[in-house]
Parts: sequence; C-alpha cells; structure tokens
Amino acid sequence: MLEYLNMTIKKQKNIALIAHDGKKQEMLKWCEANKDILQKHKLSGTGTTARMITEHVGIQVKGYNSGPLGGDQQIGAKIVEGNIDMVIFFSDPLAAQPHDPDVKALLRIAQVYDIPMANNIATADFLIRSSLMDEEYSHQIENFKNTVEDYT
Ligand code: PGA
Repeated sequence: MLEYLNMTIKKQKNIALIAHDGKKQEMLKWCEANKDILQKHKLSGTGTTARMITEHVGIQVKGYNSGPLGGDQQIGAKIVEGNIDMVIFFSDPLAAQPHDPDVKALLRIAQVYDIPMANNIATADFLIRSSLMDEEYSHQIENFKNTVEDYT
C-alpha cells in the first residue's frame, strides 16, 4: 500500500530563482515587475542569477554555486531537505547546456516533492499571483521507500 508524507509550504516561501544565460534579462525584468511580492519571501538562486538579481533589482537573493558548477544540484538537495518550496526556472529551450543532466535532475526532484515550478514567464506570473502565495499549503508526498518495497 502506498504511503504518503504530509508536508507544509508555509506562508513565507523559500523561492529558488534560476535563469540560463539566454533568459537572464527576462528573469531580471520579471523580478523587477514582481519585486514587492518577492520581497515578502526568502529568495535563493544559482550563483550568477542570484548575483544579477541582487545587483540589478536590489533584492536579497542567497547565491548557490553557478548552475554549470553544481548550483542546480544544490537547489535539488535543498528541495529534498524541505528547504525550498517553489522554483522559478527560466531554462533556455533553444540552447544546449553543458549541465543538462543536472537540469533534468532538478526537474525530476521538484516533481517528486510536488514543488510548484515555473519554466516560463506566463507560468511564473500565474504562480506569483496565486492566492496561495499568501497562505499555508499542505500537500502529500509519496513515500518512495514504501513504493520501492511494494514493487520488489
Ligand atoms: P547561473 O546558473 O545562475 O550561475 O548562470 C544558471 C544555470 O545555468 O543553471
């Protein structure tokens, strides 16, 4: 039988911001437009994205390593630890990335942990303006240990 873990996304959210090089200007513009909302939450991001947002938009974003040097994996690990609640990830669909496996790993782990994740501006707009941004949200995560045992 499948078992689930109850997890709660608090009212103040830990939001990770990531943009590939071809999407960094879009990310800066989006952060500027949503600065008032973003400031209410705890922000982090991959190294270059975090630094650029802090410098150009003037909001505090904790930086992990740069994406190609493991930043996406660090953010994935924080999701597993329950320390990231939401991801805004403007990936570039038209450019090959040296760290493509890391990007896929992050998408997968966000899906496993039922993390709200936007990969383009429209989704990010719908997400950031959701009434759930100002509320606590409880959800259930599949307990994979039991699932694996069930199938072996
Ligand atoms: P960066 O990494 O913010 O350090 O550029 C983003 C990425 O390529 O994943």
